[in-house]
Amino acid sequence: MYLCGPTVYNYAHIGNARPAVVFDLLTRVLRRKYKLIYARNITDVDDKINQAALDADVPIDQITTKYIKAYNEDMSVLGVKSPDIEPRATEHVKEMIEMIQLLLEKNHAYEAEGHVLFDVSSNPDYGILSKRDLREMIAGARVEVAPYKSSPQDFVLWKPSSREFPGWDSPWGRGRPGWHIECSAMSKKHLGNTIDIHAGGQDLIFPHHENEIAQSTCAHDGAPFARYWVHNGFLSVGSKKMSKSLGNVLLLHDLLKVTSGEVIRLALLSAHYRQPLEWSDQTLHAATRMLDRFYGAVRLIDLTKAERQEAEPPAAVIEALEDDINTPKALAAMFHLARTLNKTDDSVERKKLGASLLAGGDLMGLIQENPDKWFGDGADGGLSVENIEMMLTEREKARSNKNFSAADAIRDRLANCGIQIEDSVEGARWRRTE
Ligand code: AMP
Ligand code: ZN
Repeated sequence: MYLCGPTVYNYAHIGNARPAVVFDLLTRVLRRKYKLIYARNITDVDDKINQAALDADVPIDQITTKYIKAYNEDMSVLGVKSPDIEPRATEHVKEMIEMIQLLLEKNHAYEAEGHVLFDVSSNPDYGILSKRDLREMIAGARVEVAPYKSSPQDFVLWKPSSREFPGWDSPWGRGRPGWHIECSAMSKKHLGNTIDIHAGGQDLIFPHHENEIAQSTCAHDGAPFARYWVHNGFLSVGSKKMSKSLGNVLLLHDLLKVTSGEVIRLALLSAHYRQPLEWSDQTLHAATRMLDRFYGAVRLIDLTKAERQEAEPPAAVIEALEDDINTPKALAAMFHLARTLNKTDDSVERKKLGASLLAGGDLMGLIQENPDKWFGDGADGGLSVENIEMMLTEREKARSNKNFSAADAIRDRLANCGIQIEDSVEGARWRRTE
């Protein structure tokens, strides 16, 4: 499986995190049944990077090294596992040149004024993924046609680099690759001519993925490029796509200062991946509440290491995730399980349900914290955890002395601070109210 990864010239925003999180979950689900090799590339040569380096008056690798590190740190806080392979474009220029040469030999590309262009008219299947008709595209073309292009739809495989830009020697002079050829060449090198799954954001369907298909199938005499395509919907704010150009971005780097990675992860998984996800404070609030529920349910469940390792995720969670990564359904199943657990008095049954909930969390990359730490991190309605625990002990004492009005007064005080007490066989537990 191949996912188009970040272009590293800035911190990632939460929209950028959506594909990384959603497709991380897909790899976790696939790995239960299949042997998977997962590559997520890094685009570390690009005109936006060049511009950022020029603006800061530093070499490009100073920009890219900084943001690759930041990206990987942010992803790890979101519970995104490292891909098996993380190929960098700058380390695969040789492979890109070889692929361009193949396309030239097979008459799918032409050289013009130091550029090499893909000849879209040589590929009758062009438009197959984005369901666009080539003739309509040409008729409706509004792009200004560069003089070296035979047709406005032809796209750049290689372009010349002037001295201030990074460049590599090639049969066409010093230059740099176009963006699309990077992914075709890296995917070929690490995963072969045909891959099973190609993933990315919906904005990449056209032209990026359409062009990857054209390059790879034409270089490989028609061998299929990707058997399945999966694309995530956009994350939007106030119904506008979150994007750097609109200036409505929320950087992970900033958001992680005020909330936990798990809350963001759950929020990103709260909508089905193909649907748009409208982001607001409410999204984070709802995710926090749901995690409170999960942590509250497993808080007093004591499992041995073996019991924890042997537990299987709930069948309903697996079923939902195996059905096109239906995360809303999987989370609803987790929620239902937490509720059942809370209502159960039988301690053997409680243990079983708790182990299953935790295993579901392991699969989804959730409930990875120690529950006490989770509740200690803020969910105290102004009271410290020690305060709350002390009040609970006082309440227990009052109850065993049959002083029910004192016990009720403590319960009410806690309720006023947004803390709800639930009595169970293991004793009283507390959680934040909705
Ligand atoms: P970029 O670094 O701009 O190339 O984007 C990296 C990834 O983030 C691509 O797969 C994009 O499709 C995805 N992406 C960018 N903006 C959004 C958004 N607002 N919602 C969802 N995905 C996005
Ligand atoms: Zn790509």
